[in-house]
Amino acid sequence: MTDFSALSLTDVLAGLEAKDFTAVELAEATVSAAEAAQPALNAFTVIDGARAVDMARASDARRAKGEAGVLDGAPIAIKDLFAVKGVTTTASSNILKGFEPTYESSVTQNLWDAGAVFFAKTSMDEFAMGSSNETANTGPVINPWRAEGSDENLVPGGSSGGSASALAAGISYGATGTDTGGSIRQPAAFTGLVGVKPTYGRCSRWGVVAFASSLDHPGPFAKTVKDSALLTQVMASHDPKDSTSYPGEVPNWVEAVGKSVKGLKIGVPKEYRMDGMPGEIETLWSKGAEWLRAAGAEVVDISLPMTKYALPAYYIIAPAEASSNLARYDGMRYGARVEGEDLIDTYEKTRAAGFGKEVQRRILIGTYVLSAGYYDAYYLKALKVRRKILEDFERAFAQVDAILTPTTPSAAFGIGSKAKADPIEMYLNDIFTVTANIAGVPAMSVPAGLDASGLPLGLQVITKALDEATMFTVAGAIEDAAGFKAKPKRWW
Ligand code: GLN
Repeated sequence: MTDFSALSLTDVLAGLEAKDFTAVELAEATVSAAEAAQPALNAFTVIDGARAVDMARASDARRAKGEAGVLDGAPIAIKDLFAVKGVTTTASSNILKGFEPTYESSVTQNLWDAGAVFFAKTSMDEFAMGSSNETANTGPVINPWRAEGSDENLVPGGSSGGSASALAAGISYGATGTDTGGSIRQPAAFTGLVGVKPTYGRCSRWGVVAFASSLDHPGPFAKTVKDSALLTQVMASHDPKDSTSYPGEVPNWVEAVGKSVKGLKIGVPKEYRMDGMPGEIETLWSKGAEWLRAAGAEVVDISLPMTKYALPAYYIIAPAEASSNLARYDGMRYGARVEGEDLIDTYEKTRAAGFGKEVQRRILIGTYVLSAGYYDAYYLKALKVRRKILEDFERAFAQVDAILTPTTPSAAFGIGSKAKADPIEMYLNDIFTVTANIAGVPAMSVPAGLDASGLPLGLQVITKALDEATMFTVAGAIEDAAGFKAKPKRWW
């Protein structure tokens, strides 16, 4: 019997085409694997076997008629931030408990139009705020990876932790995520996966629960760079329903994977060499540069002097936008409601009961930095920093084709080890990823090696706006050189 868990997206599509198995068999195996893993990993908010089999049956029929789409029959897990019509969508928050959208997000619609099969929604940090998936209203998601010789449960990263955990456990062949400050790339790095944040506006935000609209980027998780290019290509489109959607064509990014990096110039920014960064991260980063040099690229030192202001600017801009976006959850039109004595009391009780602690913290920070008297000092200042960070990248990309950095300052950490301490410690996880959100430029994480305890580490490739093609080429070269084949040892 086929071991479905070991297959990539490209593998399952080839297997379906060769009639090695049917979409229904694949869907049933995927649903069983999800159900079996759920008690241990807690990666899913919904598993819908009936819908999966229905969609798979329709896929088999299309393939039999020679009408298969590019993802036909492939099960894809969906982060609980994307509206899927008729399926509970909660952003892992109590305030949206039981909410069933009557519409479909544009990104998921693009996936279904290409033939992909829905089987589950994945857990996330509440409203996508977090780096560990510990703030979900359904409890923490567990990383299938464990340190050698240890049975301590580790976080999968966040906020798209459920998608990362599921895919790393061999359930599903791709997954959606959203990346506002690193929520695709950081969990990808923590789970040995490829995670892509395309250029801002490539993937529509329509039907995706908003966190910080000017920073929110939908994108995919995949097992390989080629799979990730294919998924990004399907998920991206011009969408008139999102006013910030990019109107240009979506190139063929799959063709960019496997191209030579010969002649490309790769920049290594000195500001990403942080104090206290583990030696292993530094070593892996140098190795990455070496691999690209050996493949024919020229590696040069560059400077992104505004890097140190990126995290503080992000933690002003993101909460500011969140405080405004989350104002709509007032218990009136949908979601949870706690009756109070009057309207204001109902609002207050509903929001106090419906939002978790981290979301409340963000709303408070956001409201504060936007308030009269503080707006200029915080919010406006952060927007000026944002402009400067963009200029850093523009200057760099006048010189180089791509930038290489580590994805995260550490490997996956233990459940509870950072959450209860200072929130700043958690925010520091995003130090290498937030800059690309602030500038809107494409960035992705590629699994590149293991740390001393056998946990995966990722390298990040950043390119200029709309140049995903070069990003996929460089990521492909890193993947080839790294030969990362490790899988978590099955314990769940
Ligand atoms: N960890 C970051 C935050 O908490 C980023 C989250 C995200 O990208 N959605 O805001």
